[in-house]
Amino acid sequence: MYNFVFKNPVKILFGKGEIANMRQELPEKAKIMLTYGGGSIFKNGVYDQVKAATEGLNLIEFGGIEPNPKFETLMKAVDICKAEKVDYLLSVGGGSVLDGTKFIAAAVLFEGNDPWDILAKSSSCPVTKALPIGAVLTLPATGSEMNGNAVISKIETNEKLAFGSPAVMPQFSVLDPEVIFSLPERQVANGVVDAFVHVMEQYLTFPVNSPLQDRFAESILKTLVEEGPKVLANRTDYEAAANFMWSATMALNGMIAVGVPQDWATHMIGHELTAFHGIDHAQTLAIVLPGIMHIRRKEKEAKLLQYGERVWGIAEGTPDERIDKTIRATIRFFESVGIKTTLPEYGVPGESITKITNRFAERGFKIGEKADIGPEEIKLILENRL
Ligand code: NAP
Ligand code: FE
Repeated sequence: MYNFVFKNPVKILFGKGEIANMRQELPEKAKIMLTYGGGSIFKNGVYDQVKAATEGLNLIEFGGIEPNPKFETLMKAVDICKAEKVDYLLSVGGGSVLDGTKFIAAAVLFEGNDPWDILAKSSSCPVTKALPIGAVLTLPATGSEMNGNAVISKIETNEKLAFGSPAVMPQFSVLDPEVIFSLPERQVANGVVDAFVHVMEQYLTFPVNSPLQDRFAESILKTLVEEGPKVLANRTDYEAAANFMWSATMALNGMIAVGVPQDWATHMIGHELTAFHGIDHAQTLAIVLPGIMHIRRKEKEAKLLQYGERVWGIAEGTPDERIDKTIRATIRFFESVGIKTTLPEYGVPGESITKITNRFAERGFKIGEKADIGPEEIKLILENRL
């Protein structure tokens, strides 16, 4: 196992009715900006619960943060925060609203010339300060509620980039499973697949003798496989909603990442598919992951066999046969929740693959846990059919 330092200060308020209890977490004297998305919070009662919990506080609102939050939209909120001297942000929505809020929090205090550098120069100039954030999560998927990551898109250049900093970890996040009863089927499926692939990015690597992290990871994968379909079948099944919600948080709050290698190639390639074609984040992951499993079957062999056996019960045959069955089981799972796994099914033309590989060639560095996935491998991954 590798050395590690681990700290996760996010306070979680989990369960039915917990929105009412967030008042004690909010500063009484702050000027708060409530951020939200396209209006789902007005239809499902979440907005009313938040307003009741924040009655009497000095609060302004900023709505319209899109799925795959846009830099251009978020900069409008940054200007308002500066003009109105906002000193606390309250995100009410899914991962997009929360990621967008993290960007606003960092951009308000950013001292450089171009706030896009928060994304474009994230490795050389990391964010060290941000406005404090509280969150009410309405969609289990991203883990953003308990991590310091955010992914932001720029329409002008068709880019989708990530940044990460402890400064943008929420001070608290409310996770009330009843809030997800109103989710459309597509978003439940997206959430299950995004959380599943988050685990895979931190688990399906070369082995480093980390049996505890492995079993944590496998338990989250198995719970998603069991609970996801229950949530899809009955949206008001509170227990299934609660188990799904906590699984998605545990998938990306840092716990399973400690002491082990991480891959993230699936996410990095997936971001380009969203940037160029607007495909939902989780859908892009379902397209890319099977190809990565296939072309990296030698480097990841030990973990692929372990994953196949422990998550899908695949233990018969030669290693190659077992890996084939394991990749097929993963594809079948994605398809079973309603997510398609090939580029043609999303209407993406073959020439798009070149646009994507060119972009990775321009960046000049390779991705994956061994930094060995470059333009040629990405072409194979995106073209690959098993
Ligand atoms: P989302 O983009 O936040 O939301 C998708 C849709 O679901 C929106 O139309 C939203 O409507 C709706 N919705 C949300 N909660 C709802 C509810 N309770 N009932 C009904 N509708 C609801 O989806 P997401 O999957 O959470 O976030 C995806 C983004 O997160 C992507 O940009 C992805 O790249 C990023 N991401 C971040 C991380 C991270 O660690 N930070 C990790 C992976 C992915 P409204 O807009 O009307 O609310
Ligand atoms: Fe993701």
